[in-house]
Amino acid sequence: MKLNELTAHELLDLLQDKKTTAEEVYHCVLKRIQEIDPKIKAYVRLNSNHPDFTSLSKSSRIPIPIGIKDNMCIKNTEITCCSRILKGFKPPYNATVIEKLKNVGAPFLGITNMDEFAFGSSTENSCYFPTHNPWDLDRVPGGSSGGSAAAVAAHEAIWALGSDTGGSIRQPAALCGIVGIKPTYGRVSRYGLIAFASSLDQIGTLTKDVTDAAILLNLIAGHDEYDSTSANLPVPDYTLSLIKDVKGFKIGLPKEYFIEGLDKEVNAAIMEAIGVLKKLGASFIEVSLPHTEYAVAAYYIIATVEASSNLARFDGVQYGLREQPQQVRKSPLIDMYEETRDTGFGNEAKRRIMLGTYSLSAGYYDAYYIRGQKVRTLIKNDFEEVFKTCDAVITPTSPTTAFKIGERIHDPLAMYLSDIYTISVNLSGVPAISIPCGFSKEGLPIGLQIIAKPFAEEMMFRITYTYEQSTNWHRRKIQL
Ligand code: GLN
Repeated sequence: MKLNELTAHELLDLLQDKKTTAEEVYHCVLKRIQEIDPKIKAYVRLNSNHPDFTSLSKSSRIPIPIGIKDNMCIKNTEITCCSRILKGFKPPYNATVIEKLKNVGAPFLGITNMDEFAFGSSTENSCYFPTHNPWDLDRVPGGSSGGSAAAVAAHEAIWALGSDTGGSIRQPAALCGIVGIKPTYGRVSRYGLIAFASSLDQIGTLTKDVTDAAILLNLIAGHDEYDSTSANLPVPDYTLSLIKDVKGFKIGLPKEYFIEGLDKEVNAAIMEAIGVLKKLGASFIEVSLPHTEYAVAAYYIIATVEASSNLARFDGVQYGLREQPQQVRKSPLIDMYEETRDTGFGNEAKRRIMLGTYSLSAGYYDAYYIRGQKVRTLIKNDFEEVFKTCDAVITPTSPTTAFKIGERIHDPLAMYLSDIYTISVNLSGVPAISIPCGFSKEGLPIGLQIIAKPFAEEMMFRITYTYEQSTNWHRRKIQL
């Protein structure tokens, strides 16, 4: 097997035994990018500063090359959130996660494609180009971290970072047949993550298996004085939870999640996975998350409100693009703001700014935003109740497998509804993971989601590791 097809932990073993070098691994992945990325389009920019391998091999603990989503600040490197409005923006500092990866010597391969400002579930809202699903090039990889997910699935990154506000790590992981984690809100610092919706955003991992997810989460988790919402709690060594045993664990099946709209093949794959876990000693109970039906509505109010506020800073003054109309219309300053924002933002960003601004405006604030926040509390309470009776919850990650490029782009509601299984997790702040659990007849990957109590990522690791070690889904490789 080629080096680029291995997992990070397999490569770390080879490096330890001196059977390969960091330089060899890096160049093998780079060669793969050159071969395959013209078809996949996972990367928007490649790193032109190759690491200095002589110093790296001495100092580096984890020299495993990584892909980074285009919304995490890397000092003096162009970062754009795949928006025209940020073209040319070079942050003057590193995000905390970037700093942490640099400290262990993980080389950056490049910057991965995403929906503009992480608005979307398909990566079609990028200002550059759509990314293609490696399992079927006519289909989307999911989104918004579609570039990171496709890069890992296509073996043009060993692992990658993404961000998840309403499912943007877990859904593309499911659609690309890999492992994706949205950690507990506050587990990973958001410092240097360009904000979409600050009360929902979390940085997380996209990896080929559960072991790699534990290693990568170990590297990025922890309190950070630069992010006041990061939790000041000790971080356990997640690799210690990679134990093949779920005997006595009680897992909840929320009845509101197994409903109309859930693809039959996805449902069948989840049921089969439940069978596997049962054989391994876990028990299942039906649970209820009664406010699930309001989750999409509450999310699209809260997320757009926060987005409209976060995006107000992109006005042509300090960051990226600045445009001036040919003629003065209102005043040179107002014209500059308007022209810059009109040219700089894509359609979905404009739609969200309008939705969010509307919900915040006088007369609608109580009817929409405040009510949305109340629903959010009810959804959070639902999870608290459920976790009194079980250790974790199992659900599909996405109601369908990967859809065709272009299929939903003109129907925002259909696109929003595909987030049904992932957004309650962000509204509640709890952690969740998506892992591969099967393939459709057409050969498209299916993902299952395990949701745990706040800061109980260890439970999530234990269940998914046990499942993964008893199945082979994560070993199936794309033929491209
Ligand atoms: N698909 C959801 C949205 O468009 C979630 C995106 C995300 O998690 N960044 O808002």
